Amino acid sequence: VDRLTYNIPAAMAGSYRDLNIIVRSHDPLEFIECLSKDDLKNLLYIQLLSLSSDVDILLKWGVSVPVDLVMANPDTEFPLLYKHAELLNRHPVRVSIPVTRGFNKVVRLAASLNFAVKLEIGQLDGGLVEEMFQTLNFYLHHSTVSQPIEYFHSILMAFYHERPITIWEIQEEDPGLFRYVTNQGKETISKRFVEVDVRGDLASFIEEFKLELLAEKRECYSCEFLDNCGGYFKWPHKEFGCDQVKTIFQALKDAAIELKKDYADSLDFVGEDRS
Ligand code: SF4
Repeated sequence: VDRLTYNIPAAMAGSYRDLNIIVRSHDPLEFIECLSKDDLKNLLYIQLLSLSSDVDILLKWGVSVPVDLVMANPDTEFPLLYKHAELLNRHPVRVSIPVTRGFNKVVRLAASLNFAVKLEIGQLDGGLVEEMFQTLNFYLHHSTVSQPIEYFHSILMAFYHERPITIWEIQEEDPGLFRYVTNQGKETISKRFVEVDVRGDLASFIEEFKLELLAEKRECYSCEFLDNCGGYFKWPHKEFGCDQVKTIFQALKDAAIELKKDYADSLDFVGEDRS
C-alpha cells in the first residue's frame, strides 16, 4: 500500500498527508495555498488542468516540483504551450496530450519546446490512426526529439531491456500503483474510470480483466504483446480490434532490436568484450 500514489484534488492535500500524491488543480494558486512543506516531500508532481491560467504564479513559487500540463483540447490550446515554456527553467515539465484530432502537430510543438510528452490514449479512433503513425515516426526517427514521448518511450525501453512493464503502468492506470480520487472523494483507477462502477478489489482489476480476456479467448489470447500490454486496449470495449495497436508495438520492438544491434556493433568497433 505504501507504494500507492493518489491523484487528488489540491483541496484534499491535508487528508492525504504522509501518502504519495499527485495533486491536480485548474488554478496554480491553489497548489501554493494547499501544499505544505511536508506535503512536498511526498509529492510526485502537480497536474495543472488549465493552460489558460496565470503561469507566472508557478514561476514565482520558488519550488521546483515536476509539472504535468494537462491539455483538454489540443487543436485549439496548442499556442498556449509557448507561454508555458518558461516553466522549464524551474521545473521538469510534461505535457499530457489527448489523442484527438490535431494532436500530432501539438506533440511536435511540445517536443520542439523541450517538453516531455504523455499521450492520453485509449481505444484508438480509426480516424486518428494516420496521425498516430506520424507521431510514432516522429518519435523514432526525428533526431531533435530529446525528451520522452510516452507510451512509446517506455515500451521501447521495455523491449530493449526485456522488462514486462505494461501500458497500464506507463499510463498511470495500474491500480496496484496509482489511484485516482474524484472531486467527490471516491477512489477509482484513473480519470477514464470516473463514471464506471468498478466492482470488487481495485488492486486486482487488471489481473482479473486479463484473465477474463484469456478465458474468453479474445484477441489477447494469442497476442505476442500481452506481457507489455496487459489487455489495456480491450477496455472498455472488448471487441476493439488491435491490428493498428499491434503494428505500433511491432515498430517499437523492431526499433529496440535495431538499437541493440547498433550498440553491439559499436562495442565491436571499439573492440570491447560484450560479456
Ligand atoms: S495489443 Fe490488443 S490484443 Fe494484444 S494484448 Fe493488447 S489489448 Fe490484447
